[in-house]
Amino acid sequence: MLTISPPISRLSNLSVCHHLHSISRLLPPPPPPLPSNQRNSKTLRLHRNFQISAIDAAQPFDYESKISDRIAKSKTLKIAIVGFGNFGQFLAKTLVRQGHSVLAHSRTDYSAAAAEIGVSFYSNADDLCEEHPEVILLCTSILSTDKVLRSLPLQRLKRSTLFVDVLSVKEFAKDLFLQILPLDFDILCTHPMFGPESGKNSWKDLPFVYDKVRIGSDKARVSRCEKFLDSFAREGCVMKEMTCAEHDQHAAESQFITHTVGRVLEKLNLDSTPINTKGYERLLDLVENTSSDSFELYYGLFMYNKNAMEQLERLDLAFESLKKELFGHLHDVLRKQLFGTRERSLGVLQRPPALSKLPANGSGLALLPQSESESQSDSATS
Ligand code: NAP
Repeated sequence: MLTISPPISRLSNLSVCHHLHSISRLLPPPPPPLPSNQRNSKTLRLHRNFQISAIDAAQPFDYESKISDRIAKSKTLKIAIVGFGNFGQFLAKTLVRQGHSVLAHSRTDYSAAAAEIGVSFYSNADDLCEEHPEVILLCTSILSTDKVLRSLPLQRLKRSTLFVDVLSVKEFAKDLFLQILPLDFDILCTHPMFGPESGKNSWKDLPFVYDKVRIGSDKARVSRCEKFLDSFAREGCVMKEMTCAEHDQHAAESQFITHTVGRVLEKLNLDSTPINTKGYERLLDLVENTSSDSFELYYGLFMYNKNAMEQLERLDLAFESLKKELFGHLHDVLRKQLFGTRERSLGVLQRPPALSKLPANGSGLALLPQSESESQSDSATS
């Protein structure tokens, strides 16, 4: 069972910084410098004290304002990928090619794979966070994300870090971020609707879903989020902004069905034949595409999308309905052969009722015979 509670110990570190910040703002401004002949050791000491408090106010040489300026001006970002498996590495290749500075951290040691594609790998999460990436990009499995996020030393990051995820289920990721991340962090939930197989040649015309869950209003934060999104837009992705809830509904009806059918077909051990039709070739491609993803990913699509169970039941119902339709026709032919003349003369033999398509998603109607469902939909539209 999933339990989500804010990590108080980590939050307290961050709030200490905020308190120091606020206290420094309450101090009076430094007095104007005295002429050199009136200075004595006491006033000098006071002066130095005031200077120290002034350093914490936003100044052109202030660390955070410098970083903000840099983010606003440069086109590239410092992105830390957490979870450097199949999908994390796939995204990293493009981000590196675009000129971003990419760091990575994962449970497994991927130093060699990272070095090959120009990514700096950190086995230790503290070391990664101390590099102060502008973006943390979570590419962990759906099932492990809760644990991984809670284990990150958030207090070592810059106060306004942007957190992005690519999980294939979005409401779950959004809730997790909102519960675990301190308010100062920005949150962008995304789902690239493609993977290492479907996007291996190009990302052009492939959909990219995103929801700006919490992006601060200042220029640097807005620009940082836009820059991240632009990494996908400039590759030709079709950018789709929608809520996490909308995504999960659509994804269950499309992606979960696709993965389920692919996995069912995989169990049939389909082989290529000398007379493959185009349709069959597409089925073989589907099996290859879906089986290259981990079972954990598929299980996550089911477990963490509340709409998935309904789709599984609809699939089951549709399969049963199709079998009934086939067997109904077969039954009819057999009866005709056995009793044809006598039943026809008695007016008994009828065409078995064809079962219609399932009612639209979410309509809550049970499967109905064609005639009944037609009259139902007639009355619904009249
Ligand atoms: P995955 O099996 O969903 O995730 C593998 C990643 O999760 C690896 O980085 C792995 O780290 C990490 N991980 C798994 N269990 C862990 C644990 N107990 N503790 C710490 N880390 C753990 O496969 P994936 O294809 O790489 O997908 C990653 C994410 O991208 C998923 O959330 C998925 O929904 C999303 N996504 C995938 C695709 C796709 O086509 N594959 C497309 C869009 C979005 P180690 O390798 O270090 O063990």
